[in-house]
Amino acid sequence: MSDCLFCKIIAGDIPADKIYEDDDVLAFHDIGAQAPHHFLVIPKKHIATLNDVDDAALVGKLTLTATNIAKELGFSDDGYRVVMNCNEQGGQTVYHIHLHCLGGRQLSWPPG
Ligand code: AMP
Ligand code: ZN
Repeated sequence: MSDCLFCKIIAGDIPADKIYEDDDVLAFHDIGAQAPHHFLVIPKKHIATLNDVDDAALVGKLTLTATNIAKELGFSDDGYRVVMNCNEQGGQTVYHIHLHCLGGRQLSWPPG
């Protein structure tokens, strides 16, 4: 998708602070971090919203990539949150699915 921000990051047209990359997924630090640790994991395939997902393995890989990174960065035992926002009322602003991983501080519940 030529007009998709995250596709441009995947293509290298927009810089990102990358953490991990393989054939299927890319992880990079969120530019507007909401916690001491806040990174995104995205599929390399363009999928606009969670409603468009039909690949359970891919979503599983997004999650496992996040947990592996949380372990490597050393905050998995303290705890963290993974979340995917879907459409307007879910708070989605970039329409290429992404899993947020936040940690490094006490997170409140419910989210706003
Ligand atoms: P959402 O609101 O769930 O769609 O999340 C989109 C996230 O993308 C936000 O947390 C933004 O801070 C983040 N974001 C937007 N542009 C960039 C960028 N160029 N590099 C890294 N993160 C970004
Ligand atoms: Zn995209």
